[in-house]
Amino acid sequence: MSTLVLCGQLFTGDNFIEKGCVVVDQLKGTITEAGPKSEVNEPKDARRIEVEGSTILPGLIDAHMHFFGSKKYDIVEWLTTPETLVALRSVADARKLLRAGFTAVRDLGSKAGPYLRRAVDEGVIEGPRIVQAAKSLSQTGGNDDVPILPIGISEQLSYSYYCDGPWECRKAVRKVVRDGGDLVKVYASGSMSQGTKVRRQFTLEELKAIVDEAGSAQMKVASHAYGEEALTNSVEAGVHSIEHGIGLTPEIAKRMQKSGIFYVPTLSAYLAVKPTTEEHVKLIERHLSEDLELAKQYHVKVVAGSDFVGCDTEPHGENYLEIVNLAKYMGNREALIASTSGAASCLGLENSGWVKAGYEADLVIAKGNPIADPRNLAPNHILHVIRKGQLHTVNG
Ligand SMILES: [Zn+2]
Repeated sequence: MSTLVLCGQLFTGDNFIEKGCVVVDQLKGTITEAGPKSEVNEPKDARRIEVEGSTILPGLIDAHMHFFGSKKYDIVEWLTTPETLVALRSVADARKLLRAGFTAVRDLGSKAGPYLRRAVDEGVIEGPRIVQAAKSLSQTGGNDDVPILPIGISEQLSYSYYCDGPWECRKAVRKVVRDGGDLVKVYASGSMSQGTKVRRQFTLEELKAIVDEAGSAQMKVASHAYGEEALTNSVEAGVHSIEHGIGLTPEIAKRMQKSGIFYVPTLSAYLAVKPTTEEHVKLIERHLSEDLELAKQYHVKVVAGSDFVGCDTEPHGENYLEIVNLAKYMGNREALIASTSGAASCLGLENSGWVKAGYEADLVIAKGNPIADPRNLAPNHILHVIRKGQLHTVNG
């Protein structure tokens, strides 16, 4: 039996249908029909899943995460955990993500990303579709350079390529291409893990070289940016998405909207880690109020990304928290769009993120109604996950 019929409440990717139905061709891995129950032709010999009070949604997407395979939130541990152990833990994380309803993730910098993607694509391990940046790009002394280690050791262990000047930056992009990265991740500024002063990193000239080189390989650039200078440089260089984006201004928000640059504010990461300084507390407060408000006001495309790395304070499987946090600022429907159809568009998944005929059958069935309360997407509410037509029953 290769046809699956799902019936329940339906969130299509932007719309809610009280009594919906979805027909899935499991062999092709696509959706044959979807819509109000009264309008869908249900094949007679199909397997039916009808759960009263449950909701069918496009598979969830986390547009910013990392497969670090580490226990602690600690950059030295991220660099020094043996790669085999990272890989083994990440295999478990990939499975947890899928079973938590995530059918696609974007890994923005890790050592394991390209190989995990390959193992999932080969069907060797269970996991979501992985779009990954391979190693990220950082300047010397930048975000992922740990000053307590000799520079050669830090560079060797880092999940970033260190590069300075436009030609080294181009070479680093070429290494990401060689590694099999799907996009390029760049650190255009420091971050809070670097102490009190968050400064811009990479010059505009370097960022432009990175975007140009990535473009020649048909790859997009995701830019980690805090502060006006790094944000302006990233927008000016033509990146595809701004990650974190702390310190938005009306001017930057306007330019992002005009250029169609996605905004991934990664709220959960800031709410998961206790700020250590007064300056950090202020930055986070501003991010959760003003930045989000500006994004809303200027209609910037906000996308859900947890920035979870898989450690004990940011465990994979709990990534739905980003949807819950976004919902507080944007509303429930907008938060669901940001984690389904909106995120698919950010990841370049043209055939996914919607419950529509002809689209890939990436779906999740959750107990309750996540439009009424996104906490209904917690792992214990996930009944079934369908990835490319294949049914995984989680809490059936
Ligand atoms: Zn990140």
